[in-house]
Amino acid sequence: PKEITTLVTFFGATGDLAKRKLFPSVYNLYKKGFLQEHFAILGTSRQEMTTEEFQTFVSDSIKEFMHEDADADFIRHFDYVKGDITVAADYAPLKAKIEKLDQEFALKGNRIFYMSIAPRFFGTVAQYLKSEELLSTDGEFNRLMIEKPFGVSFETAEKLQNELSDAFSEDQVYRIDHYLGKEMVQNIATLRFGNPIFNNAWNKDYIDNIQVTLSETLGVEDRAGYYDTAGALRDMIQNHTMQVVGWLAMDEPTEWTDTAIREAKNKAFNALKIYTPEEVAENFVRGQYGPDAANTQNGYLQEKDVPADSQNNTYVAGKLEFATDRWNGVPFYIRSGKRLAAKTTRIDVVFKQDANIFNSAQPLEKNVLSIIVDPEGKIEYSIIAKDTTPEFKTRPITLEWKVSAEDKAQTPEPYERMIHDTMDGNGSNFADWNGVAVAWKFVDAIQSAWDATHQEFPNYVSGSMGPVAADELLARDGHKWVYEG
Ligand code: NAD
Repeated sequence: PKEITTLVTFFGATGDLAKRKLFPSVYNLYKKGFLQEHFAILGTSRQEMTTEEFQTFVSDSIKEFMHEDADADFIRHFDYVKGDITVAADYAPLKAKIEKLDQEFALKGNRIFYMSIAPRFFGTVAQYLKSEELLSTDGEFNRLMIEKPFGVSFETAEKLQNELSDAFSEDQVYRIDHYLGKEMVQNIATLRFGNPIFNNAWNKDYIDNIQVTLSETLGVEDRAGYYDTAGALRDMIQNHTMQVVGWLAMDEPTEWTDTAIREAKNKAFNALKIYTPEEVAENFVRGQYGPDAANTQNGYLQEKDVPADSQNNTYVAGKLEFATDRWNGVPFYIRSGKRLAAKTTRIDVVFKQDANIFNSAQPLEKNVLSIIVDPEGKIEYSIIAKDTTPEFKTRPITLEWKVSAEDKAQTPEPYERMIHDTMDGNGSNFADWNGVAVAWKFVDAIQSAWDATHQEFPNYVSGSMGPVAADELLARDGHKWVYEG
């Protein structure tokens, strides 16, 4: 592997995410040889800690989450500075430490700043990085990795974007959406653009509809404080679902670079139809879970910290329309929710059927390409073949490929991949501002239509695949959900 030379400063270095995901990811990059001699990791947070204590904290994280003793040579690249990110003066010791590490490990002024902190601080930190002069002026790069959520509405996202863009240009900002770091999500482009049979058929002439499902079995657990203000719409649709849709709806990029990929995705995003309140009522369904059939699980309204009259959505299904030559008239159905029958992330591409020439009045089953992202990577392609019966008949058969145990063992975790891609300057698998902005405008239109009308809840049973209205939504177009739980 090509050695990467960089400093990574983790804000929020004593937090849960850093311990569970970020340090183990960095260790993997070290073990694989991407990080060798010319790297340093600087942790900062408001906790009092010596560098030795921080190094022990990192070693413990590797031990707990990777079941390994980290190399002493790895740990010696870690350093720590205490500071309050809301206090300008606290950036001076950070700057001094950054400059010291730059010298010590010959980091060539290459700097990455990772914000593993509460979202309300993202803008503040970006601005202080600039005003307190923590950005290098002679390095190859300054990059900013930012956690989710990116705003809670278009307005708040735009405000954050303005704060970031005072200090960083768009190509320096890496907005994390860990769904984009998933192996099978990254496989969408390969399947599409690597196979003529799919590439040539990926349009309104051959595709009937596309379905994207992100379903969970768990309920709100102990996160009601946050979740009741977000709902499935903002927690799952605005970000993850829309980013997956971006890979499905885009045109073929002119070349395999992050700029060209973003450009192609943005062309699709910019053609997404934003709904009026009437169109929201026609095209979107919200749900909230009740108890399960056996009455052993609470309904959402009975969960801890949920207001008794909450109108929050724990389920969303809807139809997206793209006004492009490629997609005119092709519905993209999306759905996501809690307490559903199964935990899965999957894409089902339903192709149009041909006339049945085999002397049968029965229509042929439609070809379906399913890309299963979670819980295990799988591709299924259901096609028409001959049945074995003496009398000539057809039947659908399924071609299937599954990620092997060996493949899985060497597939990097999303966080490892995203940190590596940022070090490598590859923004292909990050959300860019235009896409995020469109997704917020789309979601805001739905939320405001819902805020203006009352819905009777609960409207689906825990352990089902959601409200009946979500099935009716497709039935009205003559379609049905491929995946039934
Ligand atoms: P956390 O509460 O465990 O950690 C927060 C960190 O920020 C701590 O190190 C704390 O010391 C530091 N901090 C807080 N206020 C500070 C201040 N004024 N000055 C300096 N440091 C301060 O949070 P977390 O779970 O690690 O999450 C971090 C970010 O990652 C959030 O944006 C969250 O939305 C996102 N995220 C977390 C997870 C997860 O699994 N935990 C998953 C996805 C995204």
